[in-house]
Amino acid sequence: MNSPNVPDSGDSAVICSAKGCRAPAVWVLAWNNPKLHTPERRKTWLACEEHREHLSQFLGVRGFLKDVVTLEEWESADRDG
Ligand SMILES: [Zn+2]
Repeated sequence: MNSPNVPDSGDSAVICSAKGCRAPAVWVLAWNNPKLHTPERRKTWLACEEHREHLSQFLGVRGFLKDVVTLEEWESADRDG
């Protein structure tokens, strides 16, 4: 399984995590795989408007999806890790 793009420092343009998509990300999907991660850990995927639904569903059917927020909101929350 290839790892999707992850948000970095926030300075560079962030791109949608969907495979082959080069659109700027608008949404952050926060997820957690209870088999791999401690409950408070959050992995993030980025999504453009078009792929938000697709990626949310991918995580949702596995029971991994925790939160979907706008990138702006996510960055302003100033979370660690
Ligand atoms: Zn996309």
